[in-house]
Amino acid sequence: MSKYVYLFKEGNQTMRNLLGGKGANLAEMSRLGLPVPQGFTVTTEACNVYYENGKSLPEEMVNQIYNALSETEKITGKKFGDLSEPFLVSVRSGARASMPGMMDTILNLGLNDVSVEGLANKTNNPRFAYDSYRRFIQMFSDVVMEIPKSNYEKILEEMKEAKGVENDTDLNAEDMKDLTKKFLKKYTELKGKPFPQDPKEQLIEAVEAVFRSWDNPRANTYRRLNQIPYEWGTAVNVQGMVFGNMGDDSGTGVAFSRDPSTGKKELYGEYLFNAQGEDVVAGIRTPKPIKDLEKDNPALYNDFVKSVGILENHYKDMQDMEFTIEKGKLFFLQTRNGKRTAQAAIKIAIDLFNEGVLTKEEALLKVEPKQLDTLLHPQFDKTVLSNSNPITKGLNASPGAATGIIAFDAERAKELAQKESVILVRVETSPEDIEGMIIASGILTARGGMTSHAAVVARGMGKCCVSGAGELRIDEKNRKLVVNGKTFNEGDWISIDGSSGKVYGEKIKTVEATVSGDFATFMSWADEVRKLKVRANADNPKDASVAFAFGAQGIGLCRTEHMFFEENRITAMREMIVSNNEESRKKALNKLLPMQKEDFVGLYKSMRGFPVTIRYLDPPLHEFLPSGNDEIKKLSLELNLPFEELKELIDSLHETNPMLGHRGVRLSITYPEIAEMQTKAVIEAAIQVNKEGLDVTPEIMIPLVGDVKELELLKKVVKETADKIIKENNSDLKYMVGTMIEIPRAALLADEVAKEAEFFSFGTNDLTQMTYGFSRDDAGKFLDDYYDKKVFEADPFQHVDQAGVGKLMKLASELGRKTRPEMKLGICGEHGGDPSSVEFCHNLGLNYVSCSPFRVPIARLAAAHAQIKNPK
Ligand code: PEP
Ligand code: MG
Repeated sequence: MSKYVYLFKEGNQTMRNLLGGKGANLAEMSRLGLPVPQGFTVTTEACNVYYENGKSLPEEMVNQIYNALSETEKITGKKFGDLSEPFLVSVRSGARASMPGMMDTILNLGLNDVSVEGLANKTNNPRFAYDSYRRFIQMFSDVVMEIPKSNYEKILEEMKEAKGVENDTDLNAEDMKDLTKKFLKKYTELKGKPFPQDPKEQLIEAVEAVFRSWDNPRANTYRRLNQIPYEWGTAVNVQGMVFGNMGDDSGTGVAFSRDPSTGKKELYGEYLFNAQGEDVVAGIRTPKPIKDLEKDNPALYNDFVKSVGILENHYKDMQDMEFTIEKGKLFFLQTRNGKRTAQAAIKIAIDLFNEGVLTKEEALLKVEPKQLDTLLHPQFDKTVLSNSNPITKGLNASPGAATGIIAFDAERAKELAQKESVILVRVETSPEDIEGMIIASGILTARGGMTSHAAVVARGMGKCCVSGAGELRIDEKNRKLVVNGKTFNEGDWISIDGSSGKVYGEKIKTVEATVSGDFATFMSWADEVRKLKVRANADNPKDASVAFAFGAQGIGLCRTEHMFFEENRITAMREMIVSNNEESRKKALNKLLPMQKEDFVGLYKSMRGFPVTIRYLDPPLHEFLPSGNDEIKKLSLELNLPFEELKELIDSLHETNPMLGHRGVRLSITYPEIAEMQTKAVIEAAIQVNKEGLDVTPEIMIPLVGDVKELELLKKVVKETADKIIKENNSDLKYMVGTMIEIPRAALLADEVAKEAEFFSFGTNDLTQMTYGFSRDDAGKFLDDYYDKKVFEADPFQHVDQAGVGKLMKLASELGRKTRPEMKLGICGEHGGDPSSVEFCHNLGLNYVSCSPFRVPIARLAAAHAQIKNPK
């Protein structure tokens, strides 16, 4: 018999995969003797069984839940369903990886029309009892029965209006009772049957609903974004309720053991008196800072601080804790490693090392490579900023600077983001806004504290966010925002600074980020550890300099074609393409030669002697030609060619499948003079900079090779050209000729290809496209259907498909090194900057990854993580 249910006292921290993060930590906190309301966890395996069983709980599982329930009753001394002193529970999701706000929670479960009276009598607090019941009805309806909350919120608003009060807390016991009646009536009206009165039925329905929520669209989106496998499933935690809404000696809150924005070592958090958990997280009432608790209840505060210390030392990481105070007694409802900004993550890691809590390697693992992204993107230009006055200020919920046009809801954000960067402006956010938050450059809310949904999720995404900007009057329906007398409409520009909380009513220029201070220290640790080198994909000296500043150890891919699109070059390029004989083609190429040489000089110099890989012309030629008649006419005048002739020529270059057409090495097979010109530029530039004191060994890379003979032919052209120049210059320049592995055939025959190729670089963009047989440009149109139907869990163009494409890479690496044991291997497809792919490349034994300049630090840290996890 499988065990699907564990009491908290049966589990521990190491059982995270089975019990989920929340369940394992609740068990661990119980073990540590911290005050935790007791309960049990239904496992992640049970979640999978639920789905396998046609989305229902097998009888065996239901019985185990009932048994655990009676065990918990024994521990707490209260009885579930008791009419005079009911034992109430919360039902909450808890996956292996934290997914804040992605799945649903139900509180106060176990109440019904009779036991609510019992609770009122027992606590001598009818207001509290009916407040709890009406909250339960609302949550159960929303989460289990899919009745939108708004039905109940409307009733609540109407009642407050009728009573002439502003806050829920101003409603008295009779009001709450009345509200409950109205809620129950609404439920019956919408569901066609009364609200379930049997607590056991409520519980089973709730457990099923949490399992169901594992598959809701926002959970699926979050998982894809964070590469969390669907098969992990979620656990369900059923925990005895403690009440923060029992009066002014009760309350509830969220606290972090260090500041999640800055990383500063001080207790940080918020709490609300006389409230239940969701009031804090939803950001409906603005909470008090945790420091106030020291004044309000010093003894309890001291207890609290002590327990926080225990937890942080135990987990050796910053903790994010939920707590409730019930009639002056403190309980912990959850602890987890807290989400934090990238700045905070780095500071905390360095501090924990300096405090002797972590080793350097452990500290490195505390920062997710992907998180560094926020530190690498532009910040507001300080000189411009000094001339701008903020229109208001909110909380600095998640750092970074963002400028964009206003969108008032997720749908519009997605539409507007196709044209401009967007700032999502909401009164408050909820999990339904997730897709808008993903697409937006920044998030601005009027309500909600540092632990509100917007703040937590934005920090998790590394997205700039200002929350709780209370002066904003947002009219979401009419898409309007008024602040201090000024009106903004959808599409107007605003800028937000998530580090200061300031909001500006204009577009503000941004400047590049730099690696300095703690960030630089941390990156130097990563460099001490990693074995895999990190290069950049850069096509011009400017990008190369950014890459160098971010720590690139060379260029892994220079796409030379990008150099030909510039205004003053494209005509010469076009002249070359339309030439109908070798002589005129060479003439045009000669015009390009000095420009190309100048580019390479610039590249070599910005890399200061690190290797530079130059990839020869790759795209189909028609990409360089105009398509409209007007443009063709213009070109015909420039090139002194009859319009009709030129048009015919352009038409003849049209291909049905250009990505599988005349491109890559095939171009140079037809026109070897292109490779000749590029070789001249590469070699002459290298000789020039070496004379100036650098020591460059250019790496010439031939794209799209599928057969060794292609490479053999090209290598001959390159060698003849290069050696002649070297000799003429009396130089001892060394250079290499290698190839990209981007056609499956080249991977399969890599031992043959390696006879000619002195190095391989995996072009995983094309290799993915050709292995799957779908176009990298068109796959976006249907991949969403693949995710929806769970054919794919991740985008193979972002994360290497290790099963298929990865198998080819492994084979090619092994075959290549069989022929040439010391062969240099790298990757230059987009995957080179993706942490999971970097780890895969490390495990394959590649020498380097190459990625866009902005991802270089991410790849450096990912390479260090890979080495720590799998030492070489
Ligand atoms: C590749 O195919 O992975 C590659 C790097 O080349 P490109 O993206 O230019 O086709
Ligand atoms: Mg390619």
